[in-house]
Amino acid sequence: MPARSGQQYLDGLRAQDRNVWLGGERVKDVTTHPGLAGGARAIAMLYDMQHDPALRDEMTYVSPSTGDRVGLSFIVPRTREDLERRRVMMLHWARATCGMMGRSPDFMNVTFAAWAGAAEYFGRNRREFAANIQRYYEHIREHDLTLTHSLINLQRSRTVTGSFNLAEETALRVVRETDAGVVVRGARVLATLGPISDEIAVYSPRLGRMTETHSPYAINFAIPCGTPGLKFLCRESFDLGRSAFEHPLGSRFEEMDCVVFFDDVLVPWERVFLLGDVDLINGTGLTTHSSMHSAHQGAAKNVAKCEFVLGIALLMTQTLGNAHLPHSEERLGELMMYTELMKGCMRASEADARLDEWGVMCPAPLPVETTRNLFMTAYPRMIEILQLLGSSSFMITPTAADFAGPLAPEIEQYLATDTASARDRVKLFRLAWDVAGSAFGSRQVLYERFFASDPLTRARAMAAVYPKTQVTDRVREFLRKSDDT
Ligand SMILES: Cc1cc2nc3c(=O)[nH]c(=O)nc-3n(C[C@H](O)[C@H](O)[C@H](O)COP(=O)(O)OP(=O)(O)OC[C@H]3O[C@@H](n4cnc5c(N)ncnc54)[C@H](O)[C@@H]3O)c2cc1C
Repeated sequence: MPARSGQQYLDGLRAQDRNVWLGGERVKDVTTHPGLAGGARAIAMLYDMQHDPALRDEMTYVSPSTGDRVGLSFIVPRTREDLERRRVMMLHWARATCGMMGRSPDFMNVTFAAWAGAAEYFGRNRREFAANIQRYYEHIREHDLTLTHSLINLQRSRTVTGSFNLAEETALRVVRETDAGVVVRGARVLATLGPISDEIAVYSPRLGRMTETHSPYAINFAIPCGTPGLKFLCRESFDLGRSAFEHPLGSRFEEMDCVVFFDDVLVPWERVFLLGDVDLINGTGLTTHSSMHSAHQGAAKNVAKCEFVLGIALLMTQTLGNAHLPHSEERLGELMMYTELMKGCMRASEADARLDEWGVMCPAPLPVETTRNLFMTAYPRMIEILQLLGSSSFMITPTAADFAGPLAPEIEQYLATDTASARDRVKLFRLAWDVAGSAFGSRQVLYERFFASDPLTRARAMAAVYPKTQVTDRVREFLRKSDDT
C-alpha cells in the first residue's frame, strides 16, 4: 500500500476501537472529539503532503519490497544523500506544524528504520526477534502507520542513584508467557500522540541501566492501540475549542500526552522484539544508533521551531517599533544564534555521518546530541526572550467577538501601531501568546525540557559518546612541555 492520505489515516483511527479517557469520559471517536480532533486533522494534513504533486518526490521514495511510493522517513539510509533527503522531508513536516508537533510520525519511523537496519542485534540471543523487527518495520512502512511510544515507568519514589525505580505493581512487567505471546501488566508514561496513533511501541530509554533483577521489566514490543486491556488516560486538552484567530496553535497542533495502563495485555510473539535480556535492552539505542536517528528528527524539529520563534520575535519588534532598541537587537541576535546553531548541528551531523557496522549511514553522534542537549535550555530561554520583547502586548489581545462588539472603534483606534492595524497586532500577539504563555505554549517548554529524558540523563548520554581523551591529551601535552621549560 502506498503512502497514506490524510483521509486514510483518519479512517484508520476510526476503524480501531480504542480505550481513551479524557476528562472522566471514554472518548467515542478520537477524530471528532473536540479535545483531540485538531491534532488528528494536523497529522492528516501531514499525510496529505505526501500526495501534493509539488512535494511528492521530496516526501516519498520507492519501497524496496513493493515498488510503491512510501514515506521517506521510513528509509534505511545507506548514503549521506539519503540522510539529506530524509532531512528535507522531515523539515517539510516540522515546518508545516511550526515545530509544535515533536511526535509527528517521522519520530518513530526513523527509530524503526534504524532497528530494521540493525535487525541482527535483536536476534543475538533469540533469532526469531531479528525476523520480527524486520517484518514489523516493513508492515508499518507499507501501511504508513502512526506510532506513539512510552518508555518511562511510573515511579513511586525517586532513588538517589538516579537509576530507574521499578516499583512492583506499578512499572510495566511481563506477568506470564503463553503459546500466543507474553502478557504484560503495569503503567507507562508518557505516550504523546497516543489517542491518535495506530500503534504503540514500548521499549526502554537509552541508559536505562537495568540490571539482571530487572529482567521481567526488560521488553521491547509494539501493538495496535486498540489491543484489549490497553487504556490511555489523557491530560486535559489544550485545544480550548476556540477559533484559529484566538488560539492559532492550540486549535491546530494538540498532540496530547497520556499515561498508558496495561491491564494484562497480550502481546503476540511476532510483536515481541526483545524479551528479558537486560544487556540488549540497555544497549538498543546506542548500538543500533536509533538514538542518533531520532535525534536527527529532533534536530529538524528544532530548526523549524527556532525559525518560527525568531520570525514571531522579528514581527513583534517591527509591530511594536522596538526593533532598533539595543536590548531588542541583542535578544534578537541571541535567537538568530540559536537558529543557526541548530542548523549547523543538523548539517554537521550529516556531513560527518559514517556508515555503521550495520551498513546504515548514521548521523554523527556529537552534533545531534548537542542539538538535543542544548535545546533543553535554549528553548525556555527563547520563550523568555519573547516574553521580554512583548511585555503587556500579550495582554492586549481582545477576542474576535470584541472586534465585532461595541468597543470595536476604540480597539481599532487605540491598539493600532505605526506599522500594524489593531487586528494585525492582536492576531500576531495571540499567536505569540500561544507560543510563550498559554497552556499550549507552556507545555511546549516542558516538552523541550524533558521529552528526551531529564538533563542528567542527557548529559550522561553526551559524555558517553564524547572523545574525552582528545582534549585531556592536549592539556597533558601542554603540561609536559611546561615541565621541559
Ligand atoms: C510534554 C512531554 C512529552 C513527553 N513525551 C514522551 C513520549 O512521547 N514518550 C515517552 O516515553 N516519554 C515522553 N516523555 C517523558 C520523558 O521521557 C520523561 O519526562 C523524562 O524521562 C523524565 O522523567 P520523569 O518525567 O519521570 O521525571 P522525574 O524522574 O520525575 O524527574 C523530575 C526531576 O527530578 C530530577 N530527578 C529525578 N530523579 C532524580 C534522582 N534520583 N537524582 C537527582 N535528580 C533526580 C530530574 O532530573 C528532573 O529534573 C514526555 C515528557 C513530557 C514532559
